Amino acid sequence: MEVIEQVASLRAIVHALRCSGKRIGFVPTMGALHEGHLQLLRTSARENDVTICSIFVNPTQFNNASDYRLYPRTLEQDTSLLQTIGCDYVFAPTAEEVYPKQTLLTFSFGALETVMEGAQRPGHFNGVAIVVAKLFNIVQPHKAYFGQKDLQQVAVVRQLVQTLSFDLEVVCMPTVREESGLAMSSRNKRLNDVQRGLATQLYKVLQLARRDLKQKPVPTIKHEVAHYLQQVEELELEYFEVADPLTLQPVADVSSSEEVALCIAAFVGGVRLIDNILVNLKEV
Ligand code: AMP
Repeated sequence: MEVIEQVASLRAIVHALRCSGKRIGFVPTMGALHEGHLQLLRTSARENDVTICSIFVNPTQFNNASDYRLYPRTLEQDTSLLQTIGCDYVFAPTAEEVYPKQTLLTFSFGALETVMEGAQRPGHFNGVAIVVAKLFNIVQPHKAYFGQKDLQQVAVVRQLVQTLSFDLEVVCMPTVREESGLAMSSRNKRLNDVQRGLATQLYKVLQLARRDLKQKPVPTIKHEVAHYLQQVEELELEYFEVADPLTLQPVADVSSSEEVALCIAAFVGGVRLIDNILVNLKEV
């Protein structure tokens, strides 16, 4: 496995790989790797000739300076993990390497930006789209792997790929969870043991909402979720939504839906966590 910091060096490698007919799988990450990332990497290693993982804490997608500053950075640990799971190249550039000049281009994703992560984190998806478009141009993958944990991000990336005609397939993999149900996340590293315990309430409340989906109207479920989480100390709910799984737009009445996404964002001990589950209405 090779660790590469320069765009030009990676371009040369990608060119040679493509000329020799190799299929490239790509997993973009911000590092502090956990089993959720490793699942994407293992799948890529299985489905492609070569796997490239990027580790880059992208400054343009953070709309909160302290979240960027405190984001865990564990490159040495990450590279030793990657060595064990069939990753061939790690792209770990500096911010100056990715952004030699300030980027003036802005993307708009329409309705996707007016809800949930789009509404709560202004500019976030613009930053995501800029870095993902840059990385797709540098890595030129045949397949790129993303996690359902960031469901709205997957929708943004799919729209980006479609709009800009990137010649690649976007693969979305299910959320990997701790035994407690807590969705794995690099930000969990910032939680102490007590907070980790409290954070499991997010998945718990998603399950409770799932159970009630056919019995109660959506506004009642929303009210009950908020009420339930109010009882949990150190936890502050930002949003809970019942949404269409593709457009991410709110669903006010599930009676004509086949599938919905239950999406949640909350602060636990000041750390912002998100989670979601997909619910097939025929199965509840
Ligand atoms: P991040 O490093 O947080 O930017 O995540 C990199 C990729 O890993 C994104 O596509 C995430 O959606 C995905 N990912 C993060 N956590 C999980 C998880 N628990 N299960 C599955 N995929 C995940």
